[in-house]
Amino acid sequence: MDYEAVIGLETHVQLKTKSKMWCGCANGFGAVPNSQVCPVCLGLPGVLPVANEEALRLTVLAGLLLGCEIPAFAKFDRKNYFYPDMPKNYQISQYDRPLALGGEVEFEFEGGISRVRITRAHLEEDVGKSSHFERHSGVDFNRAGVPLLEIVSEPDLRSADMAYEYLNALKDILIYGGVSDCDMEKGMVRCDVNVSVRPRGAEELGAKIEIKNLNSFSGVRRALEHEIPRQIGVVRSGGRLSQETRRWDDAAGITEVMRTKEMAHDYRYFPDPDLMPLEPSEAWLMEVRWRVVELPLARKQRFMREHRLPTGDAEVFKNDVELGNYFERVTGRSRNPKAVANWVINNLRARLAESGTTLAELKFPEAGIAELVEAVDAGRVSSKMAQEVFGEMFASGEGPEAIIRRRGLAQVSDTGALESLCDRAMAENPRSVADYRAGKTAALNHLKGQVMKLSQGKANPNLVGEILARKLQDPANSPDTP
Ligand code: ADP
Ligand code: MG
Ligand code: ZN
Repeated sequence: MDYEAVIGLETHVQLKTKSKMWCGCANGFGAVPNSQVCPVCLGLPGVLPVANEEALRLTVLAGLLLGCEIPAFAKFDRKNYFYPDMPKNYQISQYDRPLALGGEVEFEFEGGISRVRITRAHLEEDVGKSSHFERHSGVDFNRAGVPLLEIVSEPDLRSADMAYEYLNALKDILIYGGVSDCDMEKGMVRCDVNVSVRPRGAEELGAKIEIKNLNSFSGVRRALEHEIPRQIGVVRSGGRLSQETRRWDDAAGITEVMRTKEMAHDYRYFPDPDLMPLEPSEAWLMEVRWRVVELPLARKQRFMREHRLPTGDAEVFKNDVELGNYFERVTGRSRNPKAVANWVINNLRARLAESGTTLAELKFPEAGIAELVEAVDAGRVSSKMAQEVFGEMFASGEGPEAIIRRRGLAQVSDTGALESLCDRAMAENPRSVADYRAGKTAALNHLKGQVMKLSQGKANPNLVGEILARKLQDPANSPDTP
C-alpha cells in the first residue's frame, strides 16, 4: 500500500510594530533581558491592556494580502494555561472570532503553481523567553506581549519540500507588505507542524501529530523528512497512530513524544473582559486597503510577461524589490528590456555590492543604462568597450555618450576604414588566408582577431566578419596572386 502525508502549518510571526501589543514597551530584539518591560507585559495585578492599533492594521493587512475575508466582528479571548514564561497565566488570543478568515497562498512548486488554503489568521501576544542554565532557569520578558500573528493553513500540504516552499512564499508576502521582517535569526517566525499519513487516494484524515515550536524553515523540512517516514513505518508494520504532540530534537534529528491526547490541555477559552470587540469601520478598512501591495509571485509573473524576462531575471527582481523598481524605471526608456536586465543584474548589482553603495546614491542619470544599451545595439560601441563605459559612468556619474565621445571609444563602423584594416590583416597573415581557402573556416576568427587588434578593439566585429568573408571568397584578393 502506498501512503501519502497530509500537513497543515500554524505559523507565528512577530508583527513589525514599534511597541508591544498592550503597552508602550519597545518591540525590539537583543536588549538586555527584562529591560523592555512594564506592569502590563509583566502581568502585574490591576493593569489594563490597550490594543496597539498598528498591530490590528497589520493583521488585517496580512489578511487582505492572503485573500482572507475580514469579518465585521472579531474579539479577543483568554487562553488559560500556566507556564513560567507567561506571567498572566493566560495568553490573549482570538478563539472563535478571528480578524481574518479563509484565503490562500499561491507559490511555485515542482515547475507549477501550488495553492494552499488558509483557514484563518488571528492576532495574539508572544510570551517571554526561557533559558535553561546548568543549575537554574531564567525568563526574559522583553518578548512578552510582542504582537504575534498566527496563520493557520488547511491540511493542503503533501511533502516536506512543499511545506518549505509554502513557508518561504508566506514569508515573502509578509515582508513585501511590511507586516513583519520575518527575521528567523531573531526568532520572528515559528511554526507548529501538523502531520498525518493516509493511504494514497483516501479521503479521511489520519491521526494528527503536532510537532511544536520549530524556529526555522529548514527545521520544519528536516522534522517532516524524519516524521513522515516514521509514521508510514508505524502503520506499515501494523501499528496504530494516535493524536499526540511531539518535539523535534534538531541535534539528534528525531521527534519525541511531549504529550498524548489524554494529556491535552483544556485552555478554557473565554472572551477577554478587558478588551472591546473589534468592529472595523469602512473608513478604517479603506486605510488598510491602501497598504496592499502587489504580491511577490504576481510581480515575478508580471516581469516575465510585460518585460519578456526569463524566469531567473524575474526572480532576481522579485527578491530585490528596489533593484526591480530601478529596472522598471530604466527599461521604460529602452527598447531592449533583456539587455537592460543584464546590465542591472550582472554589472550594476555587482558594482553596488563591491562598493557598498545603494541605488539612491547612484551618480549617473537614470537613463544611463538605457543609453548604453542603445549605443551597443546601434553598433556605436562594442560590448567590450561598453563595459569600460559603464565602469566610468558608475564612478564619475558622466553619461555614456559623453564618455564614448571624450575617450574616443566609438566603434569603427566606417566600411572604408575597416576594408583597409582587413586588407592589412590578410597581407600580414598569408597562412590564415591559405588555411581558410583550403577549407579551414576557423582561420576567419584568427584574422578577425587581428583586425580587432589593429583597431585597438574599436572595429565593429560583425562588419569585420562580413568584410573578411567577402574578401576571402574573392580570389582577386589573394596575396599569392597580387
Ligand atoms: P487544533 O484545534 O488542535 O489546533 P485544528 O483542527 O485547528 O487543530 O488544526 C490545526 C492545524 O492542523 C491546521 O493547520 C490543520 O490544517 C492541521 N490539521 C488538522 N487535522 C490534520 C490532520 N489529520 N493531518 C494533518 N494536519 C491536520
Ligand atoms: Mg494547534
Ligand atoms: Zn510593557
